[in-house]
Amino acid sequence: MTTATKNGGQIQDSSDYKTGNLALSTPLFSETENSDEVANALRLSGALQTSLDLNKIIEIFALETNKLLPFDQITFRADEHNIECSMGQPARHRCTYRLVVARETLGELVLSRKKKFLPQETRLIESLLCGLVYPIRNALLYKQAIEAAHKDTLTGIGNRAAMNDTLERELDLAKRHATPLTLLTLDIDHFKRVNDTYGHAIGDCVIKAVAEAAILTIRRSDMIFRFGGEEFVIVLSNTSIGGASLLAERLRKQIADTTIICDGKSLGATASIGIASLQENDTPERLFCRADEALYEAKAAGRNCCRLATVDQPATVEN
Ligand code: GH3
Ligand code: MG
Ligand code: MG
Repeated sequence: MTTATKNGGQIQDSSDYKTGNLALSTPLFSETENSDEVANALRLSGALQTSLDLNKIIEIFALETNKLLPFDQITFRADEHNIECSMGQPARHRCTYRLVVARETLGELVLSRKKKFLPQETRLIESLLCGLVYPIRNALLYKQAIEAAHKDTLTGIGNRAAMNDTLERELDLAKRHATPLTLLTLDIDHFKRVNDTYGHAIGDCVIKAVAEAAILTIRRSDMIFRFGGEEFVIVLSNTSIGGASLLAERLRKQIADTTIICDGKSLGATASIGIASLQENDTPERLFCRADEALYEAKAAGRNCCRLATVDQPATVEN
């Protein structure tokens, strides 16, 4: 269903692509139209299928559509997915389309330009949009799948796969910009006892509460991941060993001071923390190993404490 209303010199269109049948039930091109238009639509459709990246898809659509119909700006917005891609400069006249597939709203696409859109032009846009909706839907599904694969379902924070990606990226950035990077490994103390005493469900609740306490303590720019069962990793970009040690101690205290309510029971937990900072020639694995060794030291020192990796410890001056 397509409606077009002229409003104060603006043409506002809203296209409702209800199902995949649109292309079948609504002829894209009338019989009188020449084969150029069909060829354009096919070329666009082929080009759009080359990517699952939403920005790239909008860029391809913009490039191809601009060859047939000049416009100044294209914007695709999907609020539910927290997405906005925009190219070009906004202009006075706008064509707005709500893209819907199988009753699912994908988002809103807006084209704008200085010159009014003519009815035959909006018809052309609509025919081209038929080739855009499914690539957009596939890209959104792909994005959702990637996000789900990187998210820990219990705590909602990033999982080990996300940590690996982040660590690799942050290491590259830190080396390129010569900025410090510090890693914390955090493990809940005697967690097995929680499971053995209260059961697995309460254990899960404690893991969640510790994650929440940690999220409350770290800065927005710090990145926390659930590495495994009751183990977490926190990546502190642009943070020196001094700053990281203060944060680690604050984190340890916050967890120790938190009263965890699970299934009506009041519980407490403590955690041990290992701290290691990026060294020259480090790999993500090496950095992680040093933080993990420091965590082991913290466990050996009696738990509920923080320890620095050997290389990060202040040198002792002997007389
Ligand atoms: P330590 O102080 O040395 O860290 O002792 P710990 O008991 O915490 O360490 P250990 O590694 O012996 O036990 C970790 C336990 O965490 C064992 C495992 O059953 C439990 N666990 C791992 N994943 C989960 C999970 O997702 N939920 C729950 N409830 N328990 C888990
Ligand atoms: Mg553990
Ligand atoms: Mg543990």
